[in-house]
Amino acid sequence: MSDAAFKSVLDARETGNKIDRKMAEEIASGMKAWAIERGATHYTHLFQPLTGATAEKHEAFISVKDGKPMERFNGSALVQQEPDASSFPTGGLRNTFEARGYSAWDPNSPAFILDGTLCIPSAFVSYTGEALDMKVPNLRSLQALSSAATAVAQLFDPHVNGVTVNVGLEQEYFLVDEALYNARPDLQLCSRTVIGHTSAKDQQLSDHYFGAIPSRVAVFMKDFETEAYRLGIPLQTRHNEVAPNQFECAPVFSDLSTAIDQNMLLMIVMQKVAEKHQLKVIFHEKPFQGINGSGKHCNWSMQTDTGVNLLSPGRTPMKNLQFLSFYASVVRAVCRHDYLLMASVCSLNNSYRLGGHEAPPAVMSVFSGATLSQVFDAILRMEDLTEPTEKQRNIDLVKSIPEIIPDNTDRNRTSPFAFTGNRFEFRAVGSSANAAGATFVLNAAVAESLRDFRSRVDACTAKGDALDKALLTVIREFLKEAAPVMFEGNGYSPAWMEEATRRGLTPITNVPTAFQAFRKAESVRLFTDTGVLSESEINARVEVQEETYVKKLQIEARVLGDICLNHVIPAAVAYQDILIKSIQGCKDIFGEEYKQLCKADMETFRKIAAYINALSEDTRALVEARKKANRITDMARRALAYSTDVMEQMARVRSSADNLEMLVDDALWPLPKYRELLFF
Ligand code: ADP
Ligand code: MG
Repeated sequence: MSDAAFKSVLDARETGNKIDRKMAEEIASGMKAWAIERGATHYTHLFQPLTGATAEKHEAFISVKDGKPMERFNGSALVQQEPDASSFPTGGLRNTFEARGYSAWDPNSPAFILDGTLCIPSAFVSYTGEALDMKVPNLRSLQALSSAATAVAQLFDPHVNGVTVNVGLEQEYFLVDEALYNARPDLQLCSRTVIGHTSAKDQQLSDHYFGAIPSRVAVFMKDFETEAYRLGIPLQTRHNEVAPNQFECAPVFSDLSTAIDQNMLLMIVMQKVAEKHQLKVIFHEKPFQGINGSGKHCNWSMQTDTGVNLLSPGRTPMKNLQFLSFYASVVRAVCRHDYLLMASVCSLNNSYRLGGHEAPPAVMSVFSGATLSQVFDAILRMEDLTEPTEKQRNIDLVKSIPEIIPDNTDRNRTSPFAFTGNRFEFRAVGSSANAAGATFVLNAAVAESLRDFRSRVDACTAKGDALDKALLTVIREFLKEAAPVMFEGNGYSPAWMEEATRRGLTPITNVPTAFQAFRKAESVRLFTDTGVLSESEINARVEVQEETYVKKLQIEARVLGDICLNHVIPAAVAYQDILIKSIQGCKDIFGEEYKQLCKADMETFRKIAAYINALSEDTRALVEARKKANRITDMARRALAYSTDVMEQMARVRSSADNLEMLVDDALWPLPKYRELLFF
């Protein structure tokens, strides 16, 4: 494309300015030539609807003109596509009869070719311009954060003209043999096992973590890494995770929009490559009860257009003040919106994981590490900074803030939000989630804090305070405000839950209740003030979340019922049949002595009978619980009923089924067991 067209792409990326039609034509024809040269026949706008997955509708480049085929892709096709996506969830923002939703090219994130299709990363909006996807609020939050962060960064360096967010997403996943996967209707339909007794050995010995990668897996990893490189995704790390057959990979971090799009793409690529290896990748947060679940740790930092990481402690007192300003603004934001941030990672899937085995607890806390905590304590202990006579001393104190070199090995894996040297790691994000759901909330909250930071500093300097004193005053205020969320101890301990509640933090105890966090007055203010979401967009999102929660749980409950009635009970009865024939045969030959000889068998028969009865009763009760919940018309209340009545009933059903698994002849058990699914 021409220099001018190229510049307009860069300009759109840097300033968010619109690309005009003429330029769009030129860019489109450049992209078409590039794609066709590489064997592409189709193009698609790839967008991220509220379902959490990605969506695509392929169109051929070929079109027919005057009876002749020709390859076509014009500017309007690049900039906008109308997928007639009437069945995507929109939470009442768009009537089905008014099906028009538009996907629009996002020039922030690179286009790529996958399986002969030119994929154009896109935003998805309604006819009236409301956000129907995960990308739009994320881009808006980036804008809000950028301008607020720039205003603060300029206090230290007037040459700063913009701030971006860098993100590195660590992706955890399980691998299961495809044939075994196909023999488990629950894995196929729900991506998690709804029954299954724990394996005698799983992760007790921690012998899988960082162990040698099984060769079958290593071959798969190399293969998908190669595919990822070809698509421009720079994968950097790979290792075994704690649970058996659980693994992790992470790319080199990049700007937020690219990082998220590439993570969504990576999940698609991994699944495609796995097929060639007769493997299935499971991205579900908790596919197996009783062992570790999977997260998508979101490493998050801010960087100026001059190349400075604003969360990197410096070597001079003034650099440290800059670092402390941003650090204090982040932790204060996390404290103000602790519950909302935890709610932003809530989903049915993640609810099985959070607070469980080695997973972040369901209450927010920030881990800073020993070095930083000491610095914060020193700042908080300072004399009242408003005392004029103290002025000189306080400025000396600014100078006396020691060089901060946080120990990178100082890691606390029990914190949902941990500082790791030059970035925060939001560890509660779920492995199957679109990380944008968490980042737009985090960005908005930090933007709000940074705005407040700047205006409070301005107020101090307007009163005549020197800049360094003003900064220190506000840093101190913010650290004070953030105190409840700062926690250096063991987040997994039950004592922390109590302590957290005492500090006024709210733990998440129920997912549909947590969704309501978005509707709280302070959240609505946050989203509307920062321009991230309008009130109707917020409501639409909550509705979609509730509906998705109910539908997913409904599917799980159905699958559980089917498995119990069609797999578990028949297998148990078949084994009873063997037992009873054996007992009968014994009686025929040995007479009354059979009671002694078949004592164990008869006991087993009775136990199985009791579990079968309980199971069929509980399965019936589960159907009733679902029906009752379905009669509730209010979606919030229906979701609540599912999260309590239906879920509790599911646990009862599962317990009988898992007990039967321990009693029934292994040869008759129709489903692959945990020990078979979890070890290559
Ligand atoms: P861990 O030791 O926490 O498992 P990994 O090496 O698996 O760490 O992943 C760390 C991720 O954080 C990588 O994606 C890395 O690129 C990313 N990262 C590193 N520095 C930054 C930064 N300043 N901002 C955002 N992400 C970063
Ligand atoms: Mg890691």
